[in-house]
Amino acid sequence: TSNESGKTVYKVGIDTTYPPFEYEVDGKYVGIDVDLINAIAEDQGFEVQLEAMDFKGIIPALQAGQLDISMGGMSITEDRKKVVDFTDPYFDAGVSLVVSKDNSEIKSVEDLKGKKVAVKKGTVGANYADSIVNDIGFEIIQFDDSPSMFLEVQNGNAVALFEDYPVISYAIAQQDLGLQVVGDRLNDDQYGIGVLKGKNQEVLAKINQGLKNLKENGKYQEIIDKYLAD
Ligand code: GLN
Repeated sequence: TSNESGKTVYKVGIDTTYPPFEYEVDGKYVGIDVDLINAIAEDQGFEVQLEAMDFKGIIPALQAGQLDISMGGMSITEDRKKVVDFTDPYFDAGVSLVVSKDNSEIKSVEDLKGKKVAVKKGTVGANYADSIVNDIGFEIIQFDDSPSMFLEVQNGNAVALFEDYPVISYAIAQQDLGLQVVGDRLNDDQYGIGVLKGKNQEVLAKINQGLKNLKENGKYQEIIDKYLAD
Protein backbone atom coordinates (compact mmCIF):
# COMPACT_ATOMS: atom_id res chain seq x y z
CA THR A 1 0.00 0.00 0.00
CA SER A 2 1.00 3.63 -0.40
CA ASN A 3 -0.15 6.86 1.23
CA GLU A 4 -1.33 10.25 -0.12
CA SER A 5 2.23 11.33 -0.84
CA GLY A 6 2.75 8.21 -2.93
CA LYS A 7 5.22 6.68 -0.51
CA THR A 8 5.04 2.97 0.18
CA VAL A 9 3.80 2.20 3.69
CA TYR A 10 5.29 -0.87 5.36
CA LYS A 11 3.69 -2.50 8.37
CA VAL A 12 6.16 -3.07 11.18
CA GLY A 13 5.44 -5.45 14.05
CA ILE A 14 6.67 -4.28 17.46
CA ASP A 15 6.44 -5.45 21.08
CA THR A 16 5.36 -2.29 22.90
CA THR A 17 6.03 -3.58 26.41
CA TYR A 18 9.77 -3.63 25.84
CA PRO A 19 11.53 -0.44 26.96
CA PRO A 20 13.97 1.02 25.98
CA PHE A 21 13.34 -0.52 22.54
CA GLU A 22 9.62 0.07 22.23
CA TYR A 23 7.01 1.28 24.68
CA GLU A 24 4.07 3.58 24.94
CA VAL A 25 4.14 7.07 26.44
CA ASP A 26 0.93 9.15 26.41
CA GLY A 27 -0.54 6.90 23.74
CA LYS A 28 2.50 7.23 21.49
CA TYR A 29 5.02 4.54 20.64
CA VAL A 30 8.58 5.51 21.53
CA GLY A 31 11.93 3.80 22.00
CA ILE A 32 15.11 2.90 20.16
CA ASP A 33 13.38 0.60 17.64
CA VAL A 34 10.61 3.12 16.96
CA ASP A 35 13.02 6.03 16.40
CA LEU A 36 15.34 3.83 14.37
CA ILE A 37 12.73 2.50 11.95
CA ASN A 38 11.26 6.00 11.55
CA ALA A 39 14.72 7.44 10.81
CA ILE A 40 15.49 4.62 8.36
CA ALA A 41 12.15 5.16 6.63
CA GLU A 42 12.83 8.88 6.34
CA ASP A 43 16.34 8.26 5.02
CA GLN A 44 15.07 5.75 2.45
CA GLY A 45 11.84 7.47 1.44
CA PHE A 46 9.24 5.05 2.70
CA GLU A 47 6.70 5.18 5.52
CA VAL A 48 5.91 2.80 8.32
CA GLN A 49 2.79 1.83 10.17
CA LEU A 50 3.60 0.39 13.59
CA GLU A 51 1.59 -2.64 14.71
CA ALA A 52 1.75 -3.51 18.42
CA MET A 53 1.53 -7.17 19.36
CA ASP A 54 2.83 -9.78 21.78
CA PHE A 55 6.39 -10.68 20.87
CA LYS A 56 5.43 -14.29 20.13
CA GLY A 57 2.97 -13.06 17.48
CA ILE A 58 5.44 -11.08 15.39
CA ILE A 59 6.98 -13.85 13.26
CA PRO A 60 3.60 -15.61 12.72
CA ALA A 61 2.13 -12.24 11.58
CA LEU A 62 5.05 -11.82 9.17
CA GLN A 63 4.40 -15.33 7.83
CA ALA A 64 0.67 -14.60 7.49
CA GLY A 65 1.41 -11.51 5.41
CA GLN A 66 -0.01 -9.15 8.05
CA LEU A 67 3.38 -7.47 8.48
CA ASP A 68 6.14 -6.45 6.08
CA ILE A 69 8.82 -5.91 8.70
CA SER A 70 9.58 -7.42 12.13
CA MET A 71 11.25 -5.55 14.97
CA GLY A 72 10.63 -5.97 18.69
CA GLY A 73 14.19 -6.16 20.01
CA MET A 74 14.33 -9.38 18.06
CA SER A 75 17.53 -11.39 18.29
CA ILE A 76 19.03 -12.83 15.14
CA THR A 77 19.04 -16.61 15.63
CA GLU A 78 19.79 -19.57 13.34
CA ASP A 79 16.31 -20.91 14.03
CA ARG A 80 14.57 -17.69 13.02
CA LYS A 81 16.79 -17.40 9.95
CA LYS A 82 14.89 -20.39 8.54
CA VAL A 83 11.84 -18.14 8.13
CA VAL A 84 13.18 -14.57 8.43
CA ASP A 85 15.85 -12.65 6.54
CA PHE A 86 17.51 -10.25 8.96
CA THR A 87 19.31 -6.96 8.38
CA ASP A 88 22.80 -6.39 9.66
CA PRO A 89 22.79 -6.43 13.47
CA TYR A 90 21.92 -3.07 15.05
CA PHE A 91 22.29 -3.74 18.78
CA ASP A 92 24.27 -6.11 21.05
CA ALA A 93 22.02 -7.73 23.62
CA GLY A 94 22.37 -11.18 25.21
CA VAL A 95 20.22 -13.00 27.77
CA SER A 96 20.70 -12.64 31.54
CA LEU A 97 19.53 -14.61 34.54
CA VAL A 98 17.51 -12.36 36.86
CA VAL A 99 16.42 -12.96 40.47
CA SER A 100 14.99 -10.94 43.33
CA LYS A 101 17.39 -8.39 44.86
CA ASP A 102 17.34 -10.18 48.21
CA ASN A 103 18.07 -13.61 46.73
CA SER A 104 21.69 -14.61 47.39
CA GLU A 105 21.05 -18.32 46.85
CA ILE A 106 20.93 -18.38 43.02
CA LYS A 107 24.45 -17.82 41.71
CA SER A 108 24.11 -19.60 38.36
CA VAL A 109 21.54 -21.54 36.34
CA GLU A 110 22.55 -24.77 38.15
CA ASP A 111 20.99 -23.32 41.33
CA LEU A 112 17.59 -23.25 39.61
CA LYS A 113 17.19 -26.96 40.36
CA GLY A 114 13.70 -27.64 41.73
CA LYS A 115 12.64 -23.97 41.43
CA LYS A 116 10.06 -22.08 39.36
CA VAL A 117 11.43 -20.01 36.48
CA ALA A 118 9.45 -17.37 34.54
CA VAL A 119 9.97 -16.93 30.79
CA LYS A 120 8.37 -14.90 28.01
CA LYS A 121 6.82 -16.93 25.20
CA GLY A 122 8.68 -17.13 21.93
CA THR A 123 11.85 -15.46 23.18
CA VAL A 124 15.48 -16.46 23.17
CA GLY A 125 15.26 -16.48 26.98
CA ALA A 126 12.46 -19.07 26.80
CA ASN A 127 14.49 -21.15 24.34
CA TYR A 128 17.48 -20.94 26.63
CA ALA A 129 15.38 -22.21 29.56
CA ASP A 130 14.08 -25.06 27.36
CA SER A 131 17.64 -26.01 26.43
CA ILE A 132 18.75 -26.54 30.05
CA VAL A 133 15.52 -27.56 31.80
CA ASN A 134 16.00 -31.32 31.42
CA ASP A 135 19.59 -31.27 32.64
CA ILE A 136 18.96 -29.03 35.63
CA GLY A 137 15.34 -29.77 36.46
CA PHE A 138 13.10 -26.77 37.17
CA GLU A 139 9.54 -25.70 36.42
CA ILE A 140 8.96 -23.21 33.59
CA ILE A 141 6.11 -20.69 33.83
CA GLN A 142 5.31 -18.82 30.60
CA PHE A 143 4.17 -15.23 30.10
CA ASP A 144 3.10 -13.14 27.10
CA ASP A 145 4.97 -9.97 28.04
CA SER A 146 7.98 -8.86 30.05
CA PRO A 147 6.19 -6.86 32.80
CA SER A 148 4.06 -9.91 33.74
CA MET A 149 7.17 -12.08 33.78
CA PHE A 150 8.98 -9.56 36.05
CA LEU A 151 5.97 -9.50 38.40
CA GLU A 152 6.11 -13.26 38.86
CA VAL A 153 9.58 -12.94 40.42
CA GLN A 154 8.74 -9.68 42.22
CA ASN A 155 5.82 -11.35 44.00
CA GLY A 156 7.84 -14.45 44.79
CA ASN A 157 5.90 -16.98 42.69
CA ALA A 158 9.02 -17.72 40.64
CA VAL A 159 12.63 -17.41 41.79
CA ALA A 160 14.15 -16.38 38.48
CA LEU A 161 13.51 -15.18 34.94
CA PHE A 162 15.45 -14.77 31.72
CA GLU A 163 15.50 -11.38 30.02
CA ASP A 164 17.75 -9.51 27.59
CA TYR A 165 20.46 -7.67 29.51
CA PRO A 166 19.84 -4.18 28.04
CA VAL A 167 16.12 -4.48 28.80
CA ILE A 168 16.40 -5.67 32.39
CA SER A 169 19.22 -3.27 33.22
CA TYR A 170 17.20 -0.35 31.77
CA ALA A 171 14.13 -1.43 33.77
CA ILE A 172 16.15 -1.68 36.99
CA ALA A 173 17.73 1.74 36.39
CA GLN A 174 14.33 3.34 35.73
CA GLN A 175 12.57 2.05 38.82
CA ASP A 176 13.30 -0.07 41.83
CA LEU A 177 11.92 -3.37 40.66
CA GLY A 178 13.57 -5.30 43.48
CA LEU A 179 15.36 -7.43 40.89
CA GLN A 180 19.03 -8.07 40.12
CA VAL A 181 21.04 -9.62 37.32
CA VAL A 182 23.10 -12.70 38.23
CA GLY A 183 26.48 -13.24 36.60
CA ASP A 184 27.49 -12.66 33.00
CA ARG A 185 25.25 -12.73 29.94
CA LEU A 186 24.43 -16.26 28.84
CA ASN A 187 24.87 -15.55 25.12
CA ASP A 188 25.85 -12.71 22.81
CA ASP A 189 22.68 -12.21 20.79
CA GLN A 190 22.36 -9.23 18.50
CA TYR A 191 19.15 -7.58 17.31
CA GLY A 192 18.15 -7.43 13.68
CA ILE A 193 15.21 -6.08 11.69
CA GLY A 194 13.50 -8.77 9.61
CA VAL A 195 11.41 -9.51 6.55
CA LEU A 196 9.84 -12.79 5.51
CA LYS A 197 12.52 -15.09 4.13
CA GLY A 198 12.97 -14.64 0.40
CA LYS A 199 10.36 -11.83 0.27
CA ASN A 200 10.61 -8.03 0.39
CA GLN A 201 14.32 -8.16 -0.47
CA GLU A 202 14.12 -4.62 -1.80
CA VAL A 203 12.95 -3.26 1.53
CA LEU A 204 15.58 -5.36 3.32
CA ALA A 205 18.28 -3.72 1.20
CA LYS A 206 16.79 -0.27 1.90
CA ILE A 207 16.76 -0.88 5.65
CA ASN A 208 20.38 -2.02 5.56
CA GLN A 209 21.35 1.04 3.54
CA GLY A 210 19.40 3.32 5.88
CA LEU A 211 21.03 1.73 8.91
CA LYS A 212 24.45 2.25 7.37
CA ASN A 213 23.68 5.90 6.54
CA LEU A 214 22.42 6.58 10.08
CA LYS A 215 25.55 5.05 11.56
CA GLU A 216 27.71 7.22 9.31
CA ASN A 217 25.83 10.47 9.87
CA GLY A 218 25.63 10.09 13.66
CA LYS A 219 21.86 9.71 13.82
CA TYR A 220 22.05 6.11 15.02
CA GLN A 221 24.23 7.14 17.97
CA GLU A 222 21.92 10.08 18.69
CA ILE A 223 18.97 7.69 19.01
CA ILE A 224 20.90 5.31 21.28
CA ASP A 225 22.08 8.21 23.46
CA LYS A 226 18.56 9.65 23.71
CA TYR A 227 17.45 6.49 25.51
CA LEU A 228 20.61 5.10 27.09
CA ALA A 229 22.95 7.97 27.97
CA ASP A 230 23.02 8.75 31.67
N1 GLN B 1 15.60 -10.53 22.13
C1 GLN B 1 14.72 -11.53 22.60
C2 GLN B 1 14.28 -12.42 21.47
O1 GLN B 1 14.50 -12.11 20.35
C3 GLN B 1 13.51 -10.98 23.33
C4 GLN B 1 12.69 -10.02 22.51
C5 GLN B 1 11.45 -9.51 23.21
O2 GLN B 1 11.09 -10.02 24.27
N2 GLN B 1 10.82 -8.51 22.64
O3 GLN B 1 13.72 -13.45 21.69
